[in-house]
Amino acid sequence: MDKFVSRARSLLLVEMIQGMALTFKYLWRPKYTMMYPMEKIPQSPRFRGLHALRRYPNGEERCIACKLCEAVCPALAITIDSEQREDNTRRTTRYEIDLFKCIFCGFCEESCPVDSIVETHIHEYHFENRGENIVTKPQLLAIGDRLEAEIAERRAADAAYR
Ligand code: SF4
Ligand code: SF4
Repeated sequence: MDKFVSRARSLLLVEMIQGMALTFKYLWRPKYTMMYPMEKIPQSPRFRGLHALRRYPNGEERCIACKLCEAVCPALAITIDSEQREDNTRRTTRYEIDLFKCIFCGFCEESCPVDSIVETHIHEYHFENRGENIVTKPQLLAIGDRLEAEIAERRAADAAYR
């Protein structure tokens, strides 16, 4: 019986008609295709893009060189050197992220006790020369300085869920 039904369906082109019906059903509906980069989909406050290092409002670096982010990074993308300052606080002398290794998991951001390393909304960037994939501390701080208002706003929007 099953064989008969199967052959009848093949003979009557049932599956093809079903497929065409589905095509016609969606032919007149609004298209979901976005014309990127002119059009962009909404982004979550949790979006994990290019990294940034943040400062406190008085300009002091947040990072205390605890190296938790370096330890937790599953891709071994973060490299930190540090030293003790004259006021006995510890700060990084080198903070680098290899963006070729980074998998944008967000573990570094989650592990940071002082909200220093964060991932921004930036996902449109490129490299032109060998070595530019290593983002240095001054570059990370500059991104943080430029986007601080937006970073703070996004973290506030997500604070209730953390
Ligand atoms: S996002 Fe993940 S992979 Fe990238 S630097 Fe942070 S911890 Fe490492
Ligand atoms: S960015 Fe945060 S987790 Fe990483 S070393 Fe600095 S304070 Fe520690």
